[in-house]
Amino acid sequence: MGVVHVSNPATGEIIHSLQTSTKEEVTAKVDKAQLAFPSWKALTAYDRSKLLIAWAAMIRENRQELGELITLENGKPLAEALGEVDYAVSYIDWYAEEAKRIYGRTIPTHVPNKRLSVTRQPIGVVAAITPWNFPAAMMTRKAAPALAAGCTFIVKPAEETPLTTIRLIELAHRAGIPEDAVQYVLADAPMVGEIFTSHKAVRKITFTGSTAVGKLLLSQCAQTVKHATMELGGHAPIIVAEDANIAVAVEQTIIAKYRNAGQTCVSPNRLIVHENIAATFTEALVAKVKELKVGNGMEADVSVGPVINRKGFDKIQDQIQDALSKGADAAVGGGHNVDEEQGFYFVEPTVLTNVSADAKIMTEETFGPVIPIVTFKELDEAIAIANDSLYGLATYFFTESYKTGTYLSENLDYGIVGWNDGIISAAHAPFGGMKESGMGREGGTEGIEPYLETKYVSMSL
Ligand code: ADP
Repeated sequence: MGVVHVSNPATGEIIHSLQTSTKEEVTAKVDKAQLAFPSWKALTAYDRSKLLIAWAAMIRENRQELGELITLENGKPLAEALGEVDYAVSYIDWYAEEAKRIYGRTIPTHVPNKRLSVTRQPIGVVAAITPWNFPAAMMTRKAAPALAAGCTFIVKPAEETPLTTIRLIELAHRAGIPEDAVQYVLADAPMVGEIFTSHKAVRKITFTGSTAVGKLLLSQCAQTVKHATMELGGHAPIIVAEDANIAVAVEQTIIAKYRNAGQTCVSPNRLIVHENIAATFTEALVAKVKELKVGNGMEADVSVGPVINRKGFDKIQDQIQDALSKGADAAVGGGHNVDEEQGFYFVEPTVLTNVSADAKIMTEETFGPVIPIVTFKELDEAIAIANDSLYGLATYFFTESYKTGTYLSENLDYGIVGWNDGIISAAHAPFGGMKESGMGREGGTEGIEPYLETKYVSMSL
C-alpha cells in the first residue's frame, strides 16, 4: 500500500495525502461493480435519469467548493475551475435526458412468420482512466453516459488531481446512486490499467490521456477483446486566412491557447498565418498576450496558472529551447518562474516567430502556454502544414469567406473544427479525434453509443 501526496501546483504545498489500494482491493472493487450491474441495469431509464438529475443538483449546490478544489489541485484560475464545474454538470444534464432516448428498432421481415427486432442494452462494467487537466469534466463526460446507459462505472483519476473525482463520487452517492454503481480507485496506474484491461467483467475501457498510454491500454484490451474509447493527444493548428477578422482571430486564439495554461488536448499548437497579415496579426496577438497575468489561480485577476508539474515544465522548456536554437524568436514571453524546492512551475505566455519547420514544437504536443507562428501563401499549403501531423483532434481557422471556410472544413483531417471559434466543446456535441488522437466520440448523441451493445432478436411465430 502506498500513499499519494496531492499538491497545489501554484505553491508546491501538499494539500492532502491519500492511501492507495492494493491489487486485491482494486480487483474487489471491480467485482463489486460487476455485482451491482444487474440491479442498476434493471432500473428503468426514467429512474436512472432521476438519479442523474439529483446528482447534477448536488454538484450545483457545491459548485463553489468544487471549483476551489479544482483550482487547488490543478492550478487553473478559479473562474475557469467554476466554468469546468458547469461544463462537467452539463454532461450529466444531457445524458440524464439521453437515457430516455435509447431506442431500438424493428426490421421488415423477409419471411412471413418472422419478426425481427433490435434492442440496445448496457455493455456492462465500464472502467475509466482520467487525466489531471479537467478533473471534473473528464470524469462526468464518461460517468454520465455510462450510468445513463445502465452500466456500472469505476474510475481511476490521475494521481495529481484525485480529490475532485472523490468529491464528485461522494455527491453521486448522496444523490442516491448506489455505492457500487459508481466508484473510484486510487492505486498504481500501470497496475490499475492491467487489472481493468484483464478483468473479465470489464467490458469497456474509456481513457483520456497521452497517446503512449492509450496505445498501451489498447494493446492490453486486445487480450479480452474489450471495447475502448480513446481520447488521446492533439496538436491543433489554427489557420488565419488573409481575409480573417484579426480582432476575432486574436481574441479566440487567446481563449483557446492560454486556457488552463495551454494544458488541454484541443489547445492550439501551431498558428499558420497568411503572410500578408502575419505582421499585423502577430502584433495584435502579442499585445493581448502581454495583458495576461500569470499567478496563483485563487487570485482574482490571474488568467494563467502554473503548469502541473516538473515533467510538464521540462517538456515545455525543451520545446522552447529547441525552437530558439533553430532560429526562432520569442515575440513575447520565453521566461518562467520556478522554484524546484517548493515545487511550483509557472511559464510565461509565449509566442514564437520564425520557427523552423523541424522544431520539435511543430510536431510534439506542448501542453503549455506557448505557440509558434509560421506563415503561408496558398490555402493548400496551409492545409498541408495543418494535416502534417500524427494527431487529428481539433483544428481552428479564421476566415470571413464561406468558400474558404467550407474548403478548409472539408479538407482538414480533424475530428473537431472551430470556424472563427476558439471554444468548441459542448456536452451536446461529439468530441473526439482522428488518427492517433484516438477513437470514438464523447458527448452528443454519439457519446452514449460506446456504452451500448446491440442485440438482434429473430423471432419465428
Ligand atoms: P500525462 O503524462 O499527461 O499525465 P498520462 O497518459 O500519463 O498523461 O496520464 C493519464 C492517465 O493515465 C492518468 O490517470 C495516469 O495515472 C494514467 N496512466 C499512466 N500510465 C498508465 C498505465 N501504464 N496504465 C494505465 N493508466 C496509466
